Amino acid sequence: MGAGAAGGIMALELARRGIQVLVIEAGPRHDFAQRGEYARRYLKHDNPWKSPGDLDRHTTSGTPGYRLDGRRARGVGGSTLFWEGYALRLHPDDLRLRTRHGVGDDWPLAYADLEPYYTRAERALGVAGAPDDPWAGPRSAPFPLPAFPWSYSDGLFARACASTGIALHHLPQARNSQAYDGRAGCQACGTCHVCPTGAKASVDLTHVARAEATGHARVLADSSVVRLDADRSGGVRAALVARARRPAERLTARVFVLAGGAVENARLLLHSSAADHPHGLGNRSGLVGRLFTSHPSVDVTGRAPVQVHPYRTGFSSAMSRQFAVAGDRAARGAFMLELLNSAGGTPEAIAARSGLWGAELKKHVQEQFGRRLGIRVFCEQLPDRGNAVALDPHVRDQLGTPVPHLRYSVGPYERRALDEARDVAGRILAAAGCDDIRTSGLGVAAHQIGTHRMGADPATSVVDADLRAHDVANLYLVGAGAFVTASASPPTLTIAALAIRAAERIARELRPGAPA
Ligand SMILES: Cc1cc2nc3c(=O)[nH]c(=O)nc-3n(C[C@H](O)[C@H](O)[C@H](O)COP(=O)(O)OP(=O)(O)OC[C@H]3O[C@@H](n4cnc5c(N)ncnc54)[C@H](O)[C@@H]3O)c2cc1C
Ligand code: SF4
Repeated sequence: MGAGAAGGIMALELARRGIQVLVIEAGPRHDFAQRGEYARRYLKHDNPWKSPGDLDRHTTSGTPGYRLDGRRARGVGGSTLFWEGYALRLHPDDLRLRTRHGVGDDWPLAYADLEPYYTRAERALGVAGAPDDPWAGPRSAPFPLPAFPWSYSDGLFARACASTGIALHHLPQARNSQAYDGRAGCQACGTCHVCPTGAKASVDLTHVARAEATGHARVLADSSVVRLDADRSGGVRAALVARARRPAERLTARVFVLAGGAVENARLLLHSSAADHPHGLGNRSGLVGRLFTSHPSVDVTGRAPVQVHPYRTGFSSAMSRQFAVAGDRAARGAFMLELLNSAGGTPEAIAARSGLWGAELKKHVQEQFGRRLGIRVFCEQLPDRGNAVALDPHVRDQLGTPVPHLRYSVGPYERRALDEARDVAGRILAAAGCDDIRTSGLGVAAHQIGTHRMGADPATSVVDADLRAHDVANLYLVGAGAFVTASASPPTLTIAALAIRAAERIARELRPGAPA
């Protein structure tokens, strides 16, 4: 279920080994030829990836709460249609937070176990980067694509960071710095949430079409899995699939893979309860839906003494992981700094806010545009049982399924990280000569993590290190829901690496002797 990052990658990995795959995708198939039109809509603030109907209906509680609107996409390609494309590996210490810092938990695998799969994921997605990150784990192969050159404002930041003892490095991204693997090089057109050229990797282009081309994979779009039925032996027997204007169908398979994202995977397991698993399928630990995390975030901006030439690309090219690895992670969350290439308003936004007309308006926009530098902070959040995805018993979606209720709060560990990050970002901006330094309100990233965590012990985890459900022998749960801790890094390259690894395990089971 699901044709996003995890499901698309899984489909190709299995299909290329000759395994028959049926991908059931709740959203539509978006024709690549529409991307130009989609980009125009996006520029007019009309999100072309918005989910059809009320499939994304949900309720939320907590402080600040977590809303899903604009934080995921449905369709063949999933949220990679919409994502920014930043593709970072975790640091080895991210996987052993308990051992190194006494908080959170350790993952059941080490960086060395993941490294070969990171390399394969980077090749498949086409990651552009440079080996200049002093806090990167060891690599067995260079980045498949050269890094994007730094922007004008990155140069201003680099001098400011050097004077404050902070090291900048390139931000690795799944975006073609030159033509790669049948997709165009980046044209710097700047609408990256809708990439009209295909230079930003999205799995509809990099994986799903290739899986279908093998002749072993088929995609059923506009089709939602609404329930899984288990048999007495504890295996999944069938998936109940709802499609518009058709009766629901029961589909059977030898192995079932849930790749609907951390919220939908948990929702489906909870909704698949039955007499012998009353708290949901695969939920003997009681952890399905719990320990939901994301990346709390703030932007810190300052008025620059010079023109900074923003908005020439739609993405950031420099970052620092210094505080994501070093520092007292027992006391505060790790945080990463993204140096923005597009801080401050666009000319359109500045004009709309001004209330001016004619020559005055022109002068105002000329004076204000390009005069702010900005730094975005993402911080690590500790898993907390109080943060959870549950079923809302009072609200149902158009298919009659209870909607997810997201309970989400940010605690002192994260707030201390954001306080320190504000201070660090403020120092960098001051060193760049900025005044009028301001911090945005608390934001939260479009990353949903940790609702079916992996582990060796079935009492304290939902899946094993290969992402197989402890309680259900033919069920795999892929995606960031399986992460044990969130790190400060965006999740998708790790989702990809884990999906490739899980596909190997499934292939070994289904086709012993098939090529790796
Ligand atoms: C605006 C934005 C920017 C982002 N930027 C970054 C970034 O720079 N770097 C990064 O690492 N990550 C980023 N992300 C997050 C990234 O997109 C996700 O981590 C990643 O796509 C998750 O992969 P997934 O396969 O688990 O889920 P998704 O890619 O969301 O795919 C899940 C798919 O499953 C389908 N589905 C769900 N439930 C069902 C069901 N019941 N039946 C059938 N199908 C179902 C959905 O329709 C969807 O297509 C961003 C996300 C957004 C929205
Ligand atoms: S800037 Fe590059 S990645 Fe972004 S939309 Fe344009 S071509 Fe795509």
